[in-house]
Amino acid sequence: MNTFVLASKNKHKADEIKTILGGGFDVITQTEAGAGDISVVEDGTTFEENAVKKAETIMRATGKPTIADDSGLCVDFLGGAPGVYTARYAGEHATDQENIEKLMTALNGVTFDKRGARFVCVIAFSRPGEKTVTFRGECDGFISLKPMGNGGFGYDPVFYVERYDKTMAELEPHIKNALSHRFSALKKFKEYLTD
Ligand code: IMP
Repeated sequence: MNTFVLASKNKHKADEIKTILGGGFDVITQTEAGAGDISVVEDGTTFEENAVKKAETIMRATGKPTIADDSGLCVDFLGGAPGVYTARYAGEHATDQENIEKLMTALNGVTFDKRGARFVCVIAFSRPGEKTVTFRGECDGFISLKPMGNGGFGYDPVFYVERYDKTMAELEPHIKNALSHRFSALKKFKEYLTD
């Protein structure tokens, strides 16, 4: 069994990645790998920089193959913002609600056709003595004119998926997961592992 460390303390995220990678791979959190005291500052200007920094820092601390992910929302009308600042768009400890309100204000008066956006996820994989590799997944959509739906998390209530005529927060979880930026990046990573 190949064991990978996830550069995160979130057990739920580690289990989700393990499920997507399928049999033969175990994924443990950095806490389970003995690196629970490390907090990596996400100060990169791209998702790739942040993911690589997290993966390499935890790989050096544990000596084990390490996966890290970084994700966020890029809005065309805002020149790709909030990008790497997605989680803290409305401030360092902003709630999902505050972030959504700031986005609605920034796009006030912008017509639907100009509200194109994408969720991006970058997975970095770092192994001792090897060059770190990255995998990028994207999910295209539009920022809706108002929040709709109660499911999901983060910006899901304002991320409209044209193919289903619904926001991410209105979609069944299994449908959202199958089209998500995270799933797409992990699929590429899995292909790399099994090649
Ligand atoms: P993280 O890198 O996974 O922590 O994601 C950064 C931020 O992007 C989160 O705080 C969310 O606000 C947002 N985000 C990432 N993925 C999703 C998603 O699938 N739905 C809604 N928001 C997301």
